[in-house]
Amino acid sequence: MYRKIDHHILKKLGEIAGQENVISDQEKITDYSHDESSSRDIAHPPEVVVKPGRAEEVAAVLELASHERIPVTPRGGATGLCGGCVPVYGGIVLSLERMNRIIELDRDNQMAVVEPGVTLGEFNRAVEEAGLSFPPHPGDESAQIGGLIATNAGGSRAVKYGVIRNYVRGLEVVLPQGEIIRLGGKLMKTSTGYSLLQLLIGSEGTLGVITRAVIQLLPALPVTRSLVIPFADIGAAIETVPLLLGRKITPLAVEFIEAEVIRITEEFLRKRWPSRAGETYLLVILDASSEEEMDLLSEAVAEVCLGKGGIDVFIADTPKKQDEVLEIRSKIYEAIKSQTVEILDICIPRAEIAGHVRRVREISKKRAIWLPTFGHAADGNVHTHIMKARCAEGKMIPVPDEEWRAKVDLVRDELYADCRARGGVISGEHGIGLVKKPFLSLVLDDVQIRLMKEIKKLFDPHLILNPGKIFDS
Ligand SMILES: Cc1cc2nc3c(=O)[nH]c(=O)nc-3n(C[C@H](O)[C@H](O)[C@H](O)COP(=O)(O)OP(=O)(O)OC[C@H]3O[C@@H](n4cnc5c(N)ncnc54)[C@H](O)[C@@H]3O)c2cc1C
Repeated sequence: MYRKIDHHILKKLGEIAGQENVISDQEKITDYSHDESSSRDIAHPPEVVVKPGRAEEVAAVLELASHERIPVTPRGGATGLCGGCVPVYGGIVLSLERMNRIIELDRDNQMAVVEPGVTLGEFNRAVEEAGLSFPPHPGDESAQIGGLIATNAGGSRAVKYGVIRNYVRGLEVVLPQGEIIRLGGKLMKTSTGYSLLQLLIGSEGTLGVITRAVIQLLPALPVTRSLVIPFADIGAAIETVPLLLGRKITPLAVEFIEAEVIRITEEFLRKRWPSRAGETYLLVILDASSEEEMDLLSEAVAEVCLGKGGIDVFIADTPKKQDEVLEIRSKIYEAIKSQTVEILDICIPRAEIAGHVRRVREISKKRAIWLPTFGHAADGNVHTHIMKARCAEGKMIPVPDEEWRAKVDLVRDELYADCRARGGVISGEHGIGLVKKPFLSLVLDDVQIRLMKEIKKLFDPHLILNPGKIFDS
């Protein structure tokens, strides 16, 4: 169906992007065959990696690929968790890593204009230095702006500040046949025709390649503080969240985390979490405009949590203490990665979250499989990890392959059935990519999937851009 890369194509790619930016060395291209999904079974090498430096080069690559019927897979920081940037049909991996300039930080409009290869870490640093903020923290620090927009990444701060979709005001996009379009701009509003901008956000590199973005910023957050509250029971911890929101307290983030993964991560990092009590923690992060307001907010959160069975309240009020807590939280993924088979990204109405987590516990017990579960409690976004180890006394003990392999599909099916029954979706922030593709029809009806396929064909008649992702065209 697709044409293979030959010398003729390699030469043309070199003329477009420069020979030094066209990599076909077998050893080097292996690095471009996977993302951060735990399942390495899905890895697939490209035939060539091209690193364009400008939108016009992206356009020329796509025009050539459309004409010659060569698959092209856009790639950002490859921190994705669903195989979105894996080139399943080989062909070209289009790595945006060289397009990494912050073009403008416009203080008057509070907007940034950036290229897609800027990483989240670099972006946040530059924005802070300019005295502004980009409040959502929607991914790993090495994720790139293009990848974050293509997956509509979320993150723990979505409860107060929304997901990346809420911040993207403009995009420059190269379409699969090589046309360059500019959508939106430094605008706070538009009611001007269908929003192609919103369609492109979250389209997982299947409709176009993002080559520039206009991102809205906010004034810097004056004071932040993290509270760690241990609970004896996960249900009580999660049920605290609607009580907080009911008291008109909207935290920057509310995470629930089981104690056993905290213990493993403490060991992994050789760092100490502030509490050893309880079996579950709520991590509540607050922002406020002054220390006085922060004290009042913290007291109100403590009162609600202690009233619901919280054992204690630990306050990380200095940058050092906050960094320690946040580092442990952000490294859980890495600490348990070696024994993770699959990470689910279920999002349900937030009032359903306690019920869903209880169901996870039941399934874990019934099937005798370890399913550590944590996530964004106030968004209803739950990351259950399907594991190939059991956990005993803070250690991961591998179980035989045949034992866990027989259970993975059953467990996933049961959890997705619970998600569907509660009116949820199978991805809150990671996207569908390759890994979740077989399950899309569990939560979207035939009409929606047909419309999506028709949109795909309209943008990409030769189906060359990131084929095999989200659905089979
Ligand atoms: C430790 C860790 C923590 C994470 N935390 C979060 C979190 O809190 N919230 C969250 O939402 N996710 C999180 N993620 C997942 C990941 O960081 C996000 O999905 C992120 O958006 C992926 O960006 P990337 O640049 O790495 O994209 P990649 O993995 O390279 O690609 C992802 C998708 O975007 C497409 N793409 C990439 N660049 C472009 C472009 N320029 N134009 C068009 N399409 C493009 C690719 O084709 C692919 O479909 C986490 C991952 C890890 C490993």
